Amino acid sequence: MSQSVSAYGVTSDSSPVEKLFIERRTPGPKDVSIDIEYCGICHSDIHQAHNDWNNTRHYPLVPGHEIIGRVTSIGKDVSQFKIGERVSVGCMVNSCRTCGSCSDGDEQYCERFPIMTYGGFDYYHDNAPTQGGYAEHIVVDEDFVVGVPENLDPAGAAPLLCAGITTWSPLKHWNVGPGMKVGVIGLGGLGHMGVKFASALGAHVVMITTSPDKAADAERLGAHEVLISKDKDAMKAARGTFDFLLDTVPVNHPLNPYTGLLKKDGTLCLVGALEPLTFHAGLVVGGRRKISGSAIGGIRETREMLAFCGKHNITSDVEIIRPDQINEAWNRVQKSDVKYRFVIDFKK
Ligand code: NAP
Ligand code: ZN
Ligand code: ZN
Repeated sequence: MSQSVSAYGVTSDSSPVEKLFIERRTPGPKDVSIDIEYCGICHSDIHQAHNDWNNTRHYPLVPGHEIIGRVTSIGKDVSQFKIGERVSVGCMVNSCRTCGSCSDGDEQYCERFPIMTYGGFDYYHDNAPTQGGYAEHIVVDEDFVVGVPENLDPAGAAPLLCAGITTWSPLKHWNVGPGMKVGVIGLGGLGHMGVKFASALGAHVVMITTSPDKAADAERLGAHEVLISKDKDAMKAARGTFDFLLDTVPVNHPLNPYTGLLKKDGTLCLVGALEPLTFHAGLVVGGRRKISGSAIGGIRETREMLAFCGKHNITSDVEIIRPDQINEAWNRVQKSDVKYRFVIDFKK
C-alpha cells in the first residue's frame, strides 16, 4: 500500500510553500524507506517551484534534494543498508542504468535523463511524479541512497548532497589541486562548499564576491584571498591570473569580466545560471580559454565526496529552521542573505 506522507510544497508557480500530503510508493524489494531528519534548501528548489527555467513538469511540487535521514525499513533484496543507519539522498533517485553515461557512473548525464528526486516522473517504477525531501519520509532504490559517515554532523551534512557534489565534481574533473589558482564566484550555498573543497584539495583559493561584507567569512571558510567583483580596479589587476573559475551565480550575468580573469588554457565552469548568457568570443579565442559547465555529480562520485568529508570532517555552514519558516528562508536566499545554507529540521 502506498503511504500518505506529510510534506511542504507549492501548488503553482506563484503560490507560497504550504503543508500538504503526498503519496510515497509501496516499498519494493530494492527500496530503502527513510525517515527524513534534515533537508537543505537549494536555490534550485526556488527556481523549480517558480518555473524559472520553464521546465517544471508538475504541481503540486515538493522540493528538496539534500536529504539526510535514518533507514526505517529495507526491501528483501537490499544489501547495502541496515535499519537504523544514517543515509542520504541527493538530486537523483534513479536513471536508465544502461546508457553510456550511466555505465560511466555519470548518471547525472543519463541519455534518457535521470529521474530527479523531485519534479520528474519515475519511469523506472510507476511513472508517478517524484516529490522531494521537504517531507517526513521518502522511499528510494538502494542504488541511489548514499551512506553518511557517522562522525559528520547530520544537519551540516545535508547540503553535501547538492551544494557539495555540484562543486566537488567539477573541481575533481578539472584536477584542482596544489599549484593552481582557483576562483569561486558567488558565496552562497554552492560557493561556500566550493571554497572549502578547493582549499582542502590544496589549491590557492580566491573568493570572488559581490558582497564585501562576506570577505571575513570567505577567509574563515578557507579562501586565501577575496576579490570584490564590483571593484573594477581589483578585477583589472587580477586579469589573466586564474587556472580555474567555478561560477555559481544563480541569475543571468555577463561572463566577460570573469572570463578575462583566466590564464591561457584556463577554464571557467558554470554551475549556477541555466539560461542564455553572453560572452565575447575574443576572450576564448585569444588565450584558448574554455567556458564549460557541470551538473551535480554521479553516485560513485557522491560516495567518494562523502568519504572525503568524513575523513576531513567537512560539512556545510548551516542555519537550521523549522518547516514553517521555509517561505522566509526562500526570500532570504533570493536576496543572497544566507550563511550559507538553510537546512530544515523535520524533528522540530
Ligand atoms: P545561493 O545560495 O543563492 O548563492 C548564490 C550566490 O551568487 C549569492 O550568494 C551571491 O554571492 C552570488 N550572486 C547572486 N546574484 C548575483 C549576481 N547578479 N551577480 C553576481 N553574483 C551573484 O545559490 P546556490 O544554492 O548556491 O545555487 C547557485 C546556483 O546553482 C543556482 O542557480 C542553483 O539553481 C544552481 N545549481 C546548479 C546545480 C548544477 O547541477 N549545476 C546544482 C545545484 C544548484 P555573493 O554575495 O558572494 O556575490
Ligand atoms: Zn540543488
Ligand atoms: Zn542512462
